[in-house]
Amino acid sequence: MQNRWNEQEAQNLSSDINKDLALRVYSSRLLGQDKSLVLHGGGNTSVKIEQKNILGEMENILYVKGSGWDLETIEAQGYAPVQMSHLLKLAQLKELTDAQMVNELKTHMTLASAPGPSVETILHALLPYKYVDHTHADAVVSITNTQDGLERIKSVYGDKVVIIPYVMPGFDLSRLCAEIFPRDSHSGTIGMVLMNHGIFSFGETAKQSYDRMIDLVAMAEDYLSEHQALEVSSSYAETSLDTENLDINQIAQLRQELSKKMQQSVVVQQQRTKQSLAFANHPQVASISQQGPATPDHVIRTKQLPMLGFNLDDYITSYTKYFEQASQTPHDGQTKTMLDPLPRIILDTKGGLLTLGKSIKEANIVADIYQHTMDIILRGTQLGGFQALPSQDIFDVEYWELEQTKLKKTGSAPQFSGEVALVTGAVTGIGKACVDSLLARGACVVALDILPEIKTLYDRPDFLGITCDVTDEDTLTQVLETTVRTFGGLDMLILNAGIFPGGCRIEDLPLKDWQKVMNINLDANLSILSKAHPYLKLAHNGGRIVVMGSKNVPAPGPGAAAYSAAKAALTQLARVAALEWGKDNIRINTLHPNAVFDTAIWTPEVLESRAKHYGMSVEAYKTNNLLGTEITSHDVAELAAEMCGPLFAKTTASQLPIDGGNDRVV
Ligand code: ZN
Repeated sequence: MQNRWNEQEAQNLSSDINKDLALRVYSSRLLGQDKSLVLHGGGNTSVKIEQKNILGEMENILYVKGSGWDLETIEAQGYAPVQMSHLLKLAQLKELTDAQMVNELKTHMTLASAPGPSVETILHALLPYKYVDHTHADAVVSITNTQDGLERIKSVYGDKVVIIPYVMPGFDLSRLCAEIFPRDSHSGTIGMVLMNHGIFSFGETAKQSYDRMIDLVAMAEDYLSEHQALEVSSSYAETSLDTENLDINQIAQLRQELSKKMQQSVVVQQQRTKQSLAFANHPQVASISQQGPATPDHVIRTKQLPMLGFNLDDYITSYTKYFEQASQTPHDGQTKTMLDPLPRIILDTKGGLLTLGKSIKEANIVADIYQHTMDIILRGTQLGGFQALPSQDIFDVEYWELEQTKLKKTGSAPQFSGEVALVTGAVTGIGKACVDSLLARGACVVALDILPEIKTLYDRPDFLGITCDVTDEDTLTQVLETTVRTFGGLDMLILNAGIFPGGCRIEDLPLKDWQKVMNINLDANLSILSKAHPYLKLAHNGGRIVVMGSKNVPAPGPGAAAYSAAKAALTQLARVAALEWGKDNIRINTLHPNAVFDTAIWTPEVLESRAKHYGMSVEAYKTNNLLGTEITSHDVAELAAEMCGPLFAKTTASQLPIDGGNDRVV
């Protein structure tokens, strides 16, 4: 367990905000940097500060982490200031529903624009220390989630910590702590363990509270180490990745079935690592993986238990059963609708770990959490048996009132949420603009280009740049495989890659130059279309293809024989595809852009010389069309993206100019 405190950094914190709060932000970020302590917005921290209100009265304010903030990147405005006096009175109430609690927390903040205070706010308030830190440390949860977890935790910490039995987070947990903590704590108490949940530390300074968290978690790690249960990675070191992988067609089919059930496109991400393969092939995987998640925080994000073994029919059967169960009346007699019943994890002996989500961000979070869960389970197994929350408690968390409110509040999803697009020739110009327009509409985008810069065009989970010569069939096969394993399938294809060679009259045109243009602008697109077809056919909203044609198709220019012929043939290919694939619910439309000058080939020098050639100013040359308007890559990309959307849902085999009106075409 690494202590990341740096006294120099702590001394040099910005003086713009209250020093106590600045230190709170600093040490919270240190906790957030350690993924074995908190993951993706998990955990929370607070500081109690005396300050003057607008009437000049001194008030004690609890600054507690606000919802939606991640400890790793939290800032001062990520803390919600709540009046301590009110919180302490709330803690004394006999009953308070979660909805009432949220209302009380929000209405007793001293800053209207602050984020909603954490559901663990009252817990922070009643711990009588200036700084309070709370994590769901893997090492601690590994010990509490065992059959004799309570005895083990006692033997690790003696009377250094107060131990609280498992209760679901929310008011009931705060109330229980309000009862037990004053009774069991003493001057030597430095922390509090919540069984099957996590750990608190506290102190009079940010450093003291942080140091204690690190020390307490280190003690748990030492305990695991003594019991040969810390480094479980050795148990999968022997696993080989060279074994047969899960077939990508099965992944794409699974995605289609799930999307149908969910009535929206979902993303499926495969993580075939030594860890996930070893876990999926563990002799006891059937029992150890089906016990439940490690902490309530994980239940919320992963939804229910992982599915075991990849068999499409089994999956659909279990899934349907799960759906039925979820819609039954729960134990307390109140009918509640499960808003989001999608199970998120599949363990497969060939494929390793597959995670599902309505976006790649969701699927990633689930994968990260499960990577930690697998190790926690293996450690628990090493200690004699992993034991998760009783199933009733998992159920309660999943149906949790607060969680439901959160789900309801989520606004409408972006247009292409859960969908996957492939764009060729994507590093600059129209191709890059298409990537941007699709990302902006919530799609995951695989972008191909012959230039290696494509790999680093964007660093975000919904973007995958691959260096690719589109004329190389083997590379294209790999590209589709990677697309399916990364995002689960393919819904949209933008065929943009192409070259525009310099002008050359037919009598001077060497056959090999002609063939090169045909190869890139025509033949490569045939290969991509044919390889993408099986996946486009499975797209939940129907497969969509947009082809970049050219004004040269209806109005060719002298000196551009190869380019014009290739684009004309490509347009014809698209029309035949529309005829053949209409029954597969795939639609294909062609755009004919003209005079798009904000691309790499149109340098200011080239523009100037072309304008001069026609005796025009650059400005007049750029807007030389019926509408007198300039056409940008962005304009073309927006139209291409819209052609994949509902507006064009009933259009296929169309050819649409985007050229401001061209008198030769009209
Ligand atoms: Zn917690």
